[in-house]
Parts: sequence; structure tokens; C-alpha cells
Amino acid sequence: ERVPGRDDIIKGTDDDAIVSKLSAVDLGYLDDPFVKYFVKRSSRRPPLINRGSYLRTASLDALTEHFIRSTTEESSTPEDSSTSSASSTATSTTTVAQPLAAAMAGQVVKKQIVSLGCGSDTRYFKFKSKGLSVAKYFEIDFQESTGKKAAVVKKNKLFTDVIGDPDLKLGRGGTELYSKDYCLLSGDLREFTSSIVPRLKAQGFDTSLPTLFLSECVLIYIQPDDSDAIVDWVGKNMDASLFVVYEQINPTDAFGAMMLRNLKARQIELPGIHEYPSLKSQEERFLSRGWLAARAVSMNTLLDTLQADEMKRISSLEIFDELEEWHLLAEHYCVAWAYNARAQSAGQDADD
Ligand code: SAM
Repeated sequence: ERVPGRDDIIKGTDDDAIVSKLSAVDLGYLDDPFVKYFVKRSSRRPPLINRGSYLRTASLDALTEHFIRSTTEESSTPEDSSTSSASSTATSTTTVAQPLAAAMAGQVVKKQIVSLGCGSDTRYFKFKSKGLSVAKYFEIDFQESTGKKAAVVKKNKLFTDVIGDPDLKLGRGGTELYSKDYCLLSGDLREFTSSIVPRLKAQGFDTSLPTLFLSECVLIYIQPDDSDAIVDWVGKNMDASLFVVYEQINPTDAFGAMMLRNLKARQIELPGIHEYPSLKSQEERFLSRGWLAARAVSMNTLLDTLQADEMKRISSLEIFDELEEWHLLAEHYCVAWAYNARAQSAGQDADD
């Protein structure tokens, strides 16, 4: 059931994520000049947490970069990647992302990104400021979260310069932002088909464009019936889509049980972890709904794909002697990604 207090706790998880991200930025793990604008009180996090934030961001950056570049291979080469720390991880993502590139080869290069539960994420600004952009980047979160984000973006030139649209507008009582290629929308993801989709469409969301859906620590907070409805809708209605999920897994071993207990002490529940507790079930979330390909890997696997020079760089940033704990922690987080395409002849939305 929907308990208002519980929603507030879930909204608060973003504060924690962004403080951790700033800690990783300040120590040199990540390069992101936008993060600090979202943090009121910074705090240095332990090396284990900094490494976790680094790997999480670098991995999702790599998948995002791969998606953006996948259909523009002719005009750009992966070697000139400006987000080099992330690109090393991209190699491991090609197995699933490849069909997307193949399906779109020689076709439109216009693409969209939809960030579900975006919180204070800065990926749009970080990527665009490095020359990596898509036709439209949509972000969605509860209105309290988007209201705070909209205010930060609107009042700082660093952000408005990246958006670069003189017609940038605030809407819905200051909780939304609309511009040519960036759109921040407020709403409840548990009402995805009934409420979010129509509003996305009103802002130019196009189901025929290749679209990346990002869920970074989001779907796990939502009851499976509601998160499944999102995966279902995307699979059935988008002509070509890549869905990327980052979240906790393995709740039942000793470490996993401790992880859940610690969250529970802060009143945080993860309803999704019981439905999707393993790499296999994370893949099945998509495959059982007819997606063409899906792959889930633990953060340990992604760590192994880091290039030696990047590993050396992050190892030099802080003294780190918790290797065992690190591997244990990394075994409890995963990235899953899945690809789907509809038969080309279908012109109408499946739910229209
Ligand atoms: N994706 C961001 C990141 O990784 O930095 C934020 C992650 S934060 C842990 C989870 C976010 O999901 C919060 O901003 C929260 O408000 C949002 N969220 C959770 N449930 C939601 C729902 N039902 N509707 C809209 N947003 C939701």
C-alpha cells in the first residue's frame, strides 16, 4: 500500500546517493562539476563507499555512452571518448547493446533517454557538456525531488548554458523544466502508463525513436507489480529500446541479510529485491516479457572489465585495505540491461 511517510523515506534516498557521489568527485574518482550544486552539506565517505559510487557511475556512464554512440558510429569513434574512465567498461556491454546498433544501422540517429527516478543525477549535463547528447533527455521523479532539481538548474548558469535553450521554461508550479532537448517531469512511477506516459508524449516523447531507459537504484523501491508494468509498457510500445537497471541483489546470504537489516533500521524497504534477487531473475524480468536479449552481471564482473591503467588510477586515490569486503559488497549489486524491438510493421502503440 502507499504510505505517505514511506514515500518521503524513498525520496530521501537520493540525498544519500548524491552526498556519496560528491565524496567520490572530491577525491578524484569521478569528474563531475555539477554534483556539488545538489549537496547542502558534504561529507567524506569511507573508501569502500567511494569505490562503490565510482563503479556504479562509471558502469552506467559506459552503457549510456555506448547507447549514444551506437547509432552514430560513422561520425564518431569510441577511441575519442571523452568519458574515458567509463569507456573501458563498455566492452562488456556490447553483447546486448549490439543488436540495437545492428537494428538501427543506417537508420535515424535521433535517440531519447528516459531517466526513471532521476533524483539529483547529473548525467545529462555531464554528457552534453562533453559533446554527447541525444534528441531528448527526459528525467522523472516525485515532484518534491524535481522541484528542488528544477530550482538548482534554473538559477545556475553552469546548467542553463549546457541546456543552451533561451526558451527553457519552468512548469507545474516550478516542479518541471522544458527545453529543446532536456525535460524534467514530476510524477509517480507507480502510475507510469496512466499518468507518466501521456505527459511524456505531451513533451514530444516519440515511441519510434531508439530509447534508453535508466533505472539507477529506483525500481527496487517500487512494488514489483508497478515496476513490471513499466518494463511491460516499454517492451510493448517502443520500436527499439535498451533498459538499464542498477540495484541490489542476493538478499538471503549473511551479507545480504545484514544489508537489508541496515536499510530497515533506516525504515528503507526494497520490495523489488524479493522478486528479482539474482542475476538470473534480473534477466528473466525482461526475457519473460518477450524482450529479445537481457544480461545481468554483478559489480565484481564489471570491476574485472576495468582497464589496468584505470584500476591503477583509482587505487592511487585512497589507502584501501578492505578488498574482501569490497568483493562481498560488489556481489550484492548488479547491472542488468535488456534490448527489445517491435516488429517494424506495427505502427500503432500497443496500448492505443
Ligand atoms: N537515480 C538517481 C541516482 O542514482 O542518483 C537517484 C536514486 S535514489 C536512490 C531513488 C530515486 O527514485 C529517488 O529520487 C526517488 O524519489 C525516486 N523514486 C522512487 N520511487 C519513485 C516513484 N514511485 N515515482 C517517482 N520517483 C521515485
